[in-house]
Amino acid sequence: MIRSLLVLAILLLGGAPAWGTPEGRVEGDDRIMVVTTIPDLADIVREVGGDEVEVRCVAKGRENLHSVRLRPSHLVMTARADLFVQVGLALEHGWVPGLPESARNSKIMREGPLNVGTGWPKLVEIPTTLDRRTGVDIHPVGNPHVNLHPDFGSFAGRKIRDRLKEMRPSQAAKFDRNLAAYEERIAKHRKRWDRIAELLKGQKVVQYHKEYSYLCGANGILMVGALEPQPGVPPTPSHLARITKGMRAQGVTVILHGPWTPGRVAQDAAKRANAKAVELPIMAPRDGGTWLAFMDELHDGLLAAWGLELEERQVDG
Ligand SMILES: [Zn+2]
Repeated sequence: MIRSLLVLAILLLGGAPAWGTPEGRVEGDDRIMVVTTIPDLADIVREVGGDEVEVRCVAKGRENLHSVRLRPSHLVMTARADLFVQVGLALEHGWVPGLPESARNSKIMREGPLNVGTGWPKLVEIPTTLDRRTGVDIHPVGNPHVNLHPDFGSFAGRKIRDRLKEMRPSQAAKFDRNLAAYEERIAKHRKRWDRIAELLKGQKVVQYHKEYSYLCGANGILMVGALEPQPGVPPTPSHLARITKGMRAQGVTVILHGPWTPGRVAQDAAKRANAKAVELPIMAPRDGGTWLAFMDELHDGLLAAWGLELEERQVDG
């Protein structure tokens, strides 16, 4: 598929004035051109890079993160990028490998993308066996959905700050200041998230795909299972029967699922288990979305899922 996209991309590039398109930059613009895989990373690059960066993002915000559909415009933006930022941990391995090569971006091919997930200290669900009889596990190195952990903003922000300082040492102090200001705002939101976690601690949940493990883990929510027998393998009738029986036995009242999942499967399972299916986002929305607002929405969504309410206090930022 990438080959046919490349042909289209070359046509688009050939027909447009260099750097003058909405995907490019005008002459004299010396900002660092950054392409990110998910909107969360685009937002964090903007926070840290400020007016030194111009950021584009591939995913829109509602896709299955393991199979985002590439378009010619993604090759055009990647062709012009100075830096490519992804989560890594095999999250994007179904659609990112080959993108810089297909876009013929020799700088990114030479220096490699920035994998912000590398060294993530809280990796969970690392497979202990490579049993492929039930299908291929698309979380081969552990759970890669780290953007739902409250520590992600700061962790990713520091990785991005370090790379931007290497690329533009003259602006090192600015990147440090931007990150410090961002981490201060994260800390304010974090106080509210921590209060929500106190209310949620001890609840039990089932997920469709294991996308909420970091969010639930950070909130003390016990994960009883997933509708997928293993990540990326669609639910089977026998597995669903086993899971819903277990949910009834353990009093699990909530099934979490992402916007891309077949909601009917989650709803049918919820009905059989006397529970409810709750859709939550799995990344920030691309147009105007921020990682902080996304995390606020997730925490409020968890509260609503269990019918809980937080006594509000003033939160700035
Ligand atoms: Zn996944």
